[in-house]
Amino acid sequence: MPYELSIQLNRCWTLAACAICGDEIDVLPGPRLYLRGSDAAVCLDCAGVHAPELVQLLYAGEQVGVYQC
Ligand SMILES: [Zn+2]
Repeated sequence: MPYELSIQLNRCWTLAACAICGDEIDVLPGPRLYLRGSDAAVCLDCAGVHAPELVQLLYAGEQVGVYQC
């Protein structure tokens, strides 16, 4: 089943389990990847498989600025 991901703005650091593989991930403040329409975070490894173009966008966004809680 294909996963639909989206970029959402995370406002505070959280510890979460990846919604796809279940690995524990640090969800840092800033734009992060989630299952579309949910608040279930997705790790970069899974995102690289299911939405590589969004991962590229995130890397580009890292250049824009630093986010804080
Ligand atoms: Zn994962």
